[in-house]
Amino acid sequence: MIRKEGKARWVYTCELCRVLAAHPDHFRAIEQQQAHEGTIEHATKPMADALGIFAESLTEMANAFVDTIASALKPLTDALATPPNVPHDPSLLRDRRKWGGR
Ligand SMILES: [Zn+2]
Repeated sequence: MIRKEGKARWVYTCELCRVLAAHPDHFRAIEQQQAHEGTIEHATKPMADALGIFAESLTEMANAFVDTIASALKPLTDALATPPNVPHDPSLLRDRRKWGGR
């Protein structure tokens, strides 16, 4: 959008891209507008914003999914975990040659 803010002050703003440029005459403001609206950034700005929101929600969803899977697999991993390397015979626990100490 081009506005005249004062004498020899024409301001081009693009709310979408938060671009603000002041020019001394209308024609330069128009040139700025045309140059800006021809850029890839301006053309892809709505899409980039949407993709940003989409990516955020996708990340949230993925995190929730991973949490669900992890909590569902917790009993299984507990069951599959190797038992602690401790002898069943308590007298072996007192064998300090093997289980620590001198
Ligand atoms: Zn723009």
